[in-house]
Amino acid sequence: METKILSTKEIKKAAELIKNGEVVAFPTETVYGLGANALNPEAVKKIFKAKGRPSDNPLIVHISNLNQLKKIAFVNKKAKNLIKNLWPGPLTIILKKKKIVPKEVTANLESVAVRMPKNKIALKLIELSGVPIAAPSANISGKPSGTCFEDVLEDFNGKISAIIKSKHCDFGIESSVVDLTEKNPVLLRPGALSFEKLKKFLPNLVLHKGKTIAAKSPGMKYKHYSPKAKIILFEGLAKNKIREYKRKLEKSEKKVKIIKPANSKEFSKKMFMLFRKCDKKNIDYILIPSIEEKGIGLAIMNRIRKASTKIIKK
Ligand code: AMP
Ligand code: MG
Repeated sequence: METKILSTKEIKKAAELIKNGEVVAFPTETVYGLGANALNPEAVKKIFKAKGRPSDNPLIVHISNLNQLKKIAFVNKKAKNLIKNLWPGPLTIILKKKKIVPKEVTANLESVAVRMPKNKIALKLIELSGVPIAAPSANISGKPSGTCFEDVLEDFNGKISAIIKSKHCDFGIESSVVDLTEKNPVLLRPGALSFEKLKKFLPNLVLHKGKTIAAKSPGMKYKHYSPKAKIILFEGLAKNKIREYKRKLEKSEKKVKIIKPANSKEFSKKMFMLFRKCDKKNIDYILIPSIEEKGIGLAIMNRIRKASTKIIKK
């Protein structure tokens, strides 16, 4: 299949493809998305095929207006308040789904994940398509998320109908996912919108930990965000210990890179791209010291933990 590279002035062409049941990669403020008409099961299946994504890992449905939300989900009071204050933005909410949403999108769950992105191109694409767009991150399943055009092209050239070529994503890390289907709200996945900010609007919000996560959000059980290089996370260890570890690996002919997250906002933007760059340089090991889990640091640490093959603690 030929993959068309569309400029941001050609969103109409991309929207036509979505209307025709094709898959198009597009930028959002978090990461690039791999989108298709959320109400067309055959189109949605193409996303899973292109990514190699397990069919029990549900997708986020992206909308551009609240009428679309009403069509696909039952909107409760908590959701209304969040939406009023935090949409459009990097926040995904889980609500009880309506019948119109195909089971392929939600992996048979009775709930649906919904987000109204802030990125103007994403919003325009949804608007012109006239349908909600189901979209996971634009990367082959298990790999670091696609946060720039080049990385999306690398994974999907020849596999999807088109890619909208735009700048590097602003946050570079996925949306925060909040479950609003239970009595108490739960942050299933920390993301670009901080836990602290969410707490302001949801004082009872708790961070989901522990093993039951797989039942609540099936996608969480899979290997995620991993480059070919092995990532080793050092939690609370002194810098010289990390350098010592590097020397030890290098003695056995391994190519090693230490990545130090200095400014967490800048780091989150470039993290997935850096992981992919290491693969291009045939790096064997990426060593990363932990950072404080506040603000976007919580999401960064969540992704590094999931991507790592080993965590070394003090
Ligand atoms: P991705 O789009 O690849 O960043 O992944 C979307 C995330 O949202 C996955 O971890 C899914 O498990 C989660 N998700 C999507 N729909 C639901 C849902 N209905 N209930 C819980 N989690 C969901
Ligand atoms: Mg993903």
